[in-house]
Amino acid sequence: MRVLGIECTAHTFGLGVIDDTYNVLIDERQTYQPKEGIVPREAAKFHKENANRLLEELDLDNIDLIGISSGPGLPPCLNFGVDFAKNLAKKLDRPIIGVNHCQAHIEVGKVFCGVEDPLVLYISGGNTQIIYNNRGYKILGETQDIGLGNAFDKLGRKVGLKFPAGPKIESLAKKGKFILLPYSVKGMDLNFSGILTEAMRKIEKGEKKEDVLHSFQEVCFSMLAEVCERALAATDKKELLLVGGVVQNQRLQEVLRRMCEDRGANFYVVPKEYAGDNGVMIALTALINWKEEKRIEPKVNPNWRIDSI
Ligand code: AMP
Ligand code: MG
Repeated sequence: MRVLGIECTAHTFGLGVIDDTYNVLIDERQTYQPKEGIVPREAAKFHKENANRLLEELDLDNIDLIGISSGPGLPPCLNFGVDFAKNLAKKLDRPIIGVNHCQAHIEVGKVFCGVEDPLVLYISGGNTQIIYNNRGYKILGETQDIGLGNAFDKLGRKVGLKFPAGPKIESLAKKGKFILLPYSVKGMDLNFSGILTEAMRKIEKGEKKEDVLHSFQEVCFSMLAEVCERALAATDKKELLLVGGVVQNQRLQEVLRRMCEDRGANFYVVPKEYAGDNGVMIALTALINWKEEKRIEPKVNPNWRIDSI
């Protein structure tokens, strides 16, 4: 069985094809590069301009199933993506199912790390959630305002870095020293926007950018370590899996790995090439759900939460 996955929820248009033993046969992506922050309509226009060209370059013979990432995400991108996928399914005369984008980040981590039932820390542009499976995915804690990736990108813009700012912040942060920033954990939930505002204020006041970026990382990653440690204790899980674009950050990995070592928990990180948005994770999740006979309608759902699948 060959499955095509289509990712089109935000900045990346991705096409991935896998077979039923999870071999990756095709993995193509195009990422929209905004001058400032992501403008949803512009991102959708970018996807529209690239989708057919990308599709024509691929050999899509023998596709048995199509999966489309139908939420959560930016409505203009989702509208285009779902239409595009449905038209393709009609043309190829193949079944199509909707895939939850967050579930896809998790499944690709589980499959490629070989871990079955971990506690999951999912951090991408728009999301930050601590998730575990108990007869369906449950959210134990999450950001109450912005996703950590978006906070990185906003802070990056403030110091003149282009999207995605995360990797450049990571490298500048290595040269900084710690200055105090607010720390905000509420039970199992997190807040990043207050820290972000204070970090931007410190930049405006002329603090060294390396120091602010370093401290921003240290505070946010400590908050995540606190919440994950409590989640491991509460669920009695023995494994922590990191997924989503932000988890490529080596300092984040170091902090969470240390916490896991102290607790005797095993630590896993999704392979770098599948951390950010991609079509492979959508194909893989479509296949898993198909095998379990979960046939989800491909309907645009911008606020689709993983705990409502
Ligand atoms: P995603 O939405 O899952 O594709 O992840 C994209 C987000 O990951 C963007 O906000 C990036 O700035 C962020 N990101 C990528 N690499 C890093 C990194 N090394 N450190 C922090 N954030 C990162
Ligand atoms: Mg994502």
